[in-house]
Amino acid sequence: MLKSIGVLTSGGDSPGMNAALRAVVRTALFEGVKVWGIYNGYRGLLDEEMEEMTSRSVSDIIQRGGTILGTARCKRFMTEEGRMQAYENMKKRGIEGLVIIGGDGSLRGATQLSLETGVPIVGLPGTIDNDVWGTDYTIGCDTAANTIIDAINKLRDTASSHNRIAVVEVMGRHCGWLAMLAGIAGGAEFILVPEEEYNLDDICSGIIKSYEQGRRYSLIVVAEGVGSSLDIGKYIEEKTNMDVRVSVLGHIQRGGSPSVRDRVKASQLGEKAALALIAGQSDVVFGFNQGKVVAIDLHDAITNKKHMNDEFIRLAKQLN
Ligand code: ADP
Repeated sequence: MLKSIGVLTSGGDSPGMNAALRAVVRTALFEGVKVWGIYNGYRGLLDEEMEEMTSRSVSDIIQRGGTILGTARCKRFMTEEGRMQAYENMKKRGIEGLVIIGGDGSLRGATQLSLETGVPIVGLPGTIDNDVWGTDYTIGCDTAANTIIDAINKLRDTASSHNRIAVVEVMGRHCGWLAMLAGIAGGAEFILVPEEEYNLDDICSGIIKSYEQGRRYSLIVVAEGVGSSLDIGKYIEEKTNMDVRVSVLGHIQRGGSPSVRDRVKASQLGEKAALALIAGQSDVVFGFNQGKVVAIDLHDAITNKKHMNDEFIRLAKQLN
């Protein structure tokens, strides 16, 4: 049984991180275990920005986007020297293990720390990209998809009024999950993701054909990893001779009050992470598989690449 644990949020922020943090803190306190909040990701471990949390430290945060602990990208933690310093700072305060809430990179850093120092680590997938292997769900993806849908609904109104083609660029550098989810839910005619080859000429002829058959406007969702949506929009405009408007949604996708789904799932994961760490488990990431909480081997989570759901690719094409 661990008696004192730390928790931090790292990498890109995502809505629901606060709900996870709240669950970690309150579960630990309920179990009679001390819990330290570490500010600004791994940087806080190095610069000793941390404090002991009480139940009140996480009051009034479940509805807030972002992370009250702050997050950062920390180059020094990428070095062994930096990680040893982090370990020393933990030892000084009697922090025996860590819950890391973050994306792929943050979980990689956690693995390194655990490997080199033996500190028990439990990870939670906190990223809007839904790109962590072994889990169907990552904290924040649902809220981000809902934010995109809100934008798409508005863009549809104006695109249909003007008979335009709307190209919407959404986040996802290496992974098209967010684009796929939002594209299907938003009724996009085409969804371009990094995992799937596409042919712009075929898309242009598809658009022309659908206009001939009476479609009033087109919606194309593009994951940022596919390439410049501005270039894609320009090419389509030239080839189809139609009016195209490109909207790059950008950081708005990261913000906002978390959805019900993100709040509840993040709370479930936060509880499981705290209990596992306190019980002495290490090198696991908690996620969801077919609706159930599952423990994923941390090493597997960072070495395997998540695949796009073939069923979604098929469905998106069939319904366009
Ligand atoms: P995300 O967790 O959202 O994928 P990053 O990839 O930027 O975000 O990672 C967040 C932080 O995790 C980095 O700034 C760094 O401190 C740490 N990190 C990432 N990769 C490694 C690694 N291979 N070894 C050690 N630390 C890492």
